[in-house]
Amino acid sequence: MTTFSELGLSELSIQALSRKGFEEPTPIQIKTIPAVLTGDSDIVAQAQTGTGKTAAFGLPLLEMLDPDVRTVQALVLAPTRELAIQVAEEVNSLRGGRTINVAPIYGGQSMEIQLRSLKKGVSVVVGTPGRVLDHLRRGSLNLSGIRFLILDEADEMLNMGFLDDVLEIMEQTATEKRTMLFSATMPPEILRIAKKYMGDYQIIKAVSEQL
Ligand code: ADP
Ligand code: MG
Repeated sequence: MTTFSELGLSELSIQALSRKGFEEPTPIQIKTIPAVLTGDSDIVAQAQTGTGKTAAFGLPLLEMLDPDVRTVQALVLAPTRELAIQVAEEVNSLRGGRTINVAPIYGGQSMEIQLRSLKKGVSVVVGTPGRVLDHLRRGSLNLSGIRFLILDEADEMLNMGFLDDVLEIMEQTATEKRTMLFSATMPPEILRIAKKYMGDYQIIKAVSEQL
């Protein structure tokens, strides 16, 4: 059995995991966490729904963010408000006491609340493409300094017609960043996008049962 510690995670993460009751890493976590922590390439990862993809990127991301930096360091794009909320909650629960602010940004919630939290300083924005674009256009969100871009549930984002929005957002992000794409399925369209818009990337696939 592989343990979370063997994947190179710090004591803060291990404590957060034990508080959550996660006993062992899932196959996609076993493959992705060390690849993110020790490598520097972009990542295209595929594993079925319900196999722990959020923690697969959330855990190493939290290790790599600077808790002293108050500007946005990572953007996670998700297809729906429910998923944005869920991912923000999961990442939050994995912080293990680190002073890293995670804010969900989605349509349907008052702009006021989001503007206030963005003003306070957020390290990780988890957003839906439409609302993220709204904030970019208003100037209330600046992605020019992000170090990580995560495209979560990429197949769903494509199915929902968000490709143009995602590409427009990507254009406004730092060029020196790592992009990680997570998806349950890998239609040719996704690989085409990865080839065209991502840097040298590593493909990671894992097959396992739903949790
Ligand atoms: P996916 O994004 O692949 O669909 P999620 O990241 O949403 O999957 O995870 C599905 C569920 O499994 C969530 O409730 C999550 O908290 C839980 N989970 C993730 N990793 C583990 C683990 N290693 N052990 C136990 N439960 C886990
Ligand atoms: Mg997911």
